[in-house]
Amino acid sequence: MITQAAVVTEPGAAFNFRDVQLDDPRPDEIIVKMVSTGICHTDISVRDTLPADMFPRVLGHEGAGIVEQVGSAVTKVAVGDPVILSLDACGQCANCTSKGPGYCENTLILNYMGFRMDGSTTYTMDEAPLHGQFLGQSSFSAYALATERNAVKVAPGTDLSRLGPYGCSFMTGAGTVLNILDPKRGSDTDTLVVYGVGAVGLAALAAARGRYQTFAVDLQASRLEAAVRLGATAINPAESEDLVAQIKELTNGHGANFAIDTTGKTAVVKQMVQALAIKGTAVILALGDATAELDAVDVMMNGKQIVGAIMGDSDPHQTIPELLRMAAAGEFMVDDLITAYPVAQINEAIADAESGKVIKPVLVW
Ligand SMILES: [Zn+2]
Ligand SMILES: [Zn+2]
Repeated sequence: MITQAAVVTEPGAAFNFRDVQLDDPRPDEIIVKMVSTGICHTDISVRDTLPADMFPRVLGHEGAGIVEQVGSAVTKVAVGDPVILSLDACGQCANCTSKGPGYCENTLILNYMGFRMDGSTTYTMDEAPLHGQFLGQSSFSAYALATERNAVKVAPGTDLSRLGPYGCSFMTGAGTVLNILDPKRGSDTDTLVVYGVGAVGLAALAAARGRYQTFAVDLQASRLEAAVRLGATAINPAESEDLVAQIKELTNGHGANFAIDTTGKTAVVKQMVQALAIKGTAVILALGDATAELDAVDVMMNGKQIVGAIMGDSDPHQTIPELLRMAAAGEFMVDDLITAYPVAQINEAIADAESGKVIKPVLVW
């Protein structure tokens, strides 16, 4: 079919809506008519850092929409089903079956390279290949091609216009709390410090509300205000003489039982580990360029644990329905983090996110 997609023609270029050709679905594939697509920081960093030969390409990886067509072997979703799209995973390899879909052996090709396993692209533009399949979807497109593997079916009649971010940023932040921190909990007085409270960090705070005593570290006042609305204590490191000492003081002298970094910054990761309590756990979530310097004696003597996680170790088919249930019960209050934009304003929405004017822009188709 011919559809309209926001195409990037070279590294760092603006998004431009173009008529593109989308393939018919192969046996395991589906086509989804988009209702909303969240804009995630990863869309922007990938646009700005991939090599020129990986363009032109269609990005977008927080899509929610209605199944329009299904391939001949698809059994898990049907035409008309509302779905939220997430990371793709083969479901067959040793990592998929034992470690979770985020660690699929085929994740690079399924999610980042821009073509299928056989090297074909799902899009063409001006009769030339156009890279797609970003996070198995490339959902900055009126119609997007995904698979039944990365489409999470939600209840019939669900309003999808603000649900795109559940496929990545909301799931990543909240999944970290549900899948990594909660199983390691010690007591009701456990503390959690989140470094960097954009959409991922705020989703973590939203999921942790009422379970942990929470703290938010960020330089931007508007983000700290959102964190405070989610029950966190705000800490602006620009106003702190010694951030590590301040966090220890705020956590009864012990340091944080849990910490999450969403910044990917070298200095922040170092401080996060320094400000951890004995047997505390620090989770690295960011796709940053940081290399972190650690005090090995401090880590060893205090039993500190430093773990990384993709998408908060979530299986989208489990974590997304759980978060929707929590949201309906008032236990996951992320809706007011969203600012909706008509799709034509994609570049303005990105500029507003980068300047800090909005937290989570969502394009509405
Ligand atoms: Zn993302
Ligand atoms: Zn796999």
